[in-house]
Amino acid sequence: MKKILMIATGGTIASSGGEQGLAPAMTGDELAANVPGIQDKCKLTVLQLMNIDSTNMRPRDWLRIRDAVMEHYGSYDGFVILHGTDTMAYTAAALSYLIQNSRKPIVLTGSQKPMGNPYTDAKLNIYQSILYALDDQSCRVCIVFNGKAVAGTRGRKQRTRSFDAFESMNFPLLAVIHDDRIIRHYTGALPEPDALKTYSRLNDRVFVLKLTPEVKAEIFGLLSSHYDAIILETFGIGGIPEYEDASFEKAIFGWVNAGKTLAVTTQVPEEGCDLEVYKVGKKYSEHPGILQAADMTTESLVAKIMWILGQTNKQEEIHSMFYTSINHDRT
Ligand code: ASP
Repeated sequence: MKKILMIATGGTIASSGGEQGLAPAMTGDELAANVPGIQDKCKLTVLQLMNIDSTNMRPRDWLRIRDAVMEHYGSYDGFVILHGTDTMAYTAAALSYLIQNSRKPIVLTGSQKPMGNPYTDAKLNIYQSILYALDDQSCRVCIVFNGKAVAGTRGRKQRTRSFDAFESMNFPLLAVIHDDRIIRHYTGALPEPDALKTYSRLNDRVFVLKLTPEVKAEIFGLLSSHYDAIILETFGIGGIPEYEDASFEKAIFGWVNAGKTLAVTTQVPEEGCDLEVYKVGKKYSEHPGILQAADMTTESLVAKIMWILGQTNKQEEIHSMFYTSINHDRT
């Protein structure tokens, strides 16, 4: 029988309500005990790593989850991480960079309603995550939620209330799961066991800046003492204001020429960014220090740049790591 390690971190799935609102209360063991049938499928061990609302999940916690998986990597066939939905896409992306090419599946799941709610989605999400983690064709980091398996770098929480909370952005679902049946939509080569690569450093000085009409370019100067990288969410397919005072041109080229990192993406949820299309973007497209996100999610950009800057500050290395596709993060 296969062995699965379930790592509990909190989230709605573990929450119960008090006067102050929902907060994690149930343990991973209690959650597992509420899911009928899983003990017949595998030998399940539960590790309670933390019990927090994922609003409070930070890069240092991603590293704790990474360490827990790696400490037990040799002893289990797969990993299921119970996690709050609000920042699950960030954690899934971060783990995709911290633990690369894992032949063993590392599955994140949670729920929109607490386990204690009579109409909860928690039981099926845990059950199907374990089924997915047990399947021989599963690998790498992914999210399993509401019958969908999403690559760890492509998840986005798209709905705050519905059970169908997650979408796979700009990339096909890995699989759908109907009851006990996994129907694969994406079948790529499985990683070789010796291809596993792990990392244990992140640089969390990464800021996401969303352009809005009339936003002041001086913001770049204000951010420079606190941040090493900006992810710029531009308009449309890649529009950056071209005001009379050339304030954005000065601020952006000034930022990258000072040796800081800048990645350009779009605030439009689907289909990605291309700076080449409009005059208001094209002038930035050739500069080697300006990284182009293409169809990556902002969640993955945050995690990838934290990971890259945790390993190097050399521009050529940053460039080459950024443009290398990891766990399907860019096409
Ligand atoms: N606030 C909760 C969390 O992210 C929401 C959830 O789990 O659905 O921990």
